[in-house]
Amino acid sequence: MKLIFLFVLSFSLLAQAEDTEVLIRIPKSFVGNEVKHFISDHFSHDYYAVGYVSKHDFNQLPSNVQSQVQVLEPLSWAKGLYDIESLSIRAEEKGFDSYHNYVALTALLQKIASENSDIVSLQSAGQSVKGRELWYVILSNTPNDTNKPVTSLIANMHGDETAGRELMLSMIEKVVDSYRAGDARTLNIVNNSRVLIMPSMNPDGFELGRRGNANNVDLNRNFDDPINGASRNPQPETLAVVALHKKYHPNLGLNFHGGSVCFNLPWDHKSNNPITFADDAFIHDIATEYASLNSTMYRNNEFDHGVTYGYEWYQVTGGLQDWSILYADSIHATVELSYTKWPNARDLPSIYNENEEAVFRVLEKGLFGLHLEILTQSGAQATGFEIKTSDSNRWLSDKGSNFIHRLTTDRMQEVQIKANGKILKINVDPSIFDGQYTQIRL
Ligand SMILES: [Zn+2]
Repeated sequence: MKLIFLFVLSFSLLAQAEDTEVLIRIPKSFVGNEVKHFISDHFSHDYYAVGYVSKHDFNQLPSNVQSQVQVLEPLSWAKGLYDIESLSIRAEEKGFDSYHNYVALTALLQKIASENSDIVSLQSAGQSVKGRELWYVILSNTPNDTNKPVTSLIANMHGDETAGRELMLSMIEKVVDSYRAGDARTLNIVNNSRVLIMPSMNPDGFELGRRGNANNVDLNRNFDDPINGASRNPQPETLAVVALHKKYHPNLGLNFHGGSVCFNLPWDHKSNNPITFADDAFIHDIATEYASLNSTMYRNNEFDHGVTYGYEWYQVTGGLQDWSILYADSIHATVELSYTKWPNARDLPSIYNENEEAVFRVLEKGLFGLHLEILTQSGAQATGFEIKTSDSNRWLSDKGSNFIHRLTTDRMQEVQIKANGKILKINVDPSIFDGQYTQIRL
């Protein structure tokens, strides 16, 4: 009897761990009432809402509610082929499949890296559930120089949000081409920082044409969470990105999605009222600049010219954005690239054109701020200090290096350095890093 009981218990735990999502259309009035724990798919309609519930919750709906809930086919929904009222699915025009699939993406990255080994280092962060490599590149002339600041760009964590995947590939090609052409901005980015680009965090989801990974887990609900605590069921793709942050300590990161066109600021899980994110001044400047360079985003008046705080839009728990900030000290935000999650590939060039300069500015912002070498009075390397700027509400410890990159807005900064029980205050003008540090003696 005991053995049977244990078997049943472990089976039910497994079932819970692998609970999957169902995409549904429901009357808006059901959200939070008849249908609780509904993850909206940010779709705007007078009567209906579209989004995800867990299969467990779906099966628990009473029959009178179920009769008004329709299950949608996720890929047709992602491609914008549904008529939301009749639920008829339009025939797919040509062009949706003109994306780099996993094999083509791998071949392209290998080709770029082998032809440009002086500035492109191709690596894998680990493997997906189905054993696909989680490729990323480091764009830098010295990919292993830990004194150069890192900016990270991660796309396609939702497998059916695909524009970011191609935007990342095109950005890698653009950076390489501009570097070869001697473009001064690109030379500075490649020579003085390390740009980490992961075109697809969820290659299995892309191949399967769905949001979740091969276990049908939503990776952007899968990170440790400041309020809910440790992830209950961390996926290999999530753990790989966690390890990547521990290895590179990006100062700044963006992750790219689809389904709207906007810049989504921290926090996702909690309100900014009463306390805003400590580096709000810095990331808000980036957001407004990004949106001003992307005319579709700027025209999105669902938000403030395309800029929103995550929580004010819809709450996310276990997301990459909040995790990066709180657990990896990386200033992080989310960009939504296209109203259709899986746009026809013929739309990709215009999406690229709307984002190229904006992404370039972000890469430059990853170099912008204070670049300080902290020394003792006798000129030795200082340790055991903490540092704060007037832009930010957080003290950061030295993390074992006396070379500090602190990202700031372009405003003059009052810098406070706390060491040996004393606080030193100095004013420093921020600048774009060109390899030179300002020396400060404690
Ligand atoms: Zn997404």
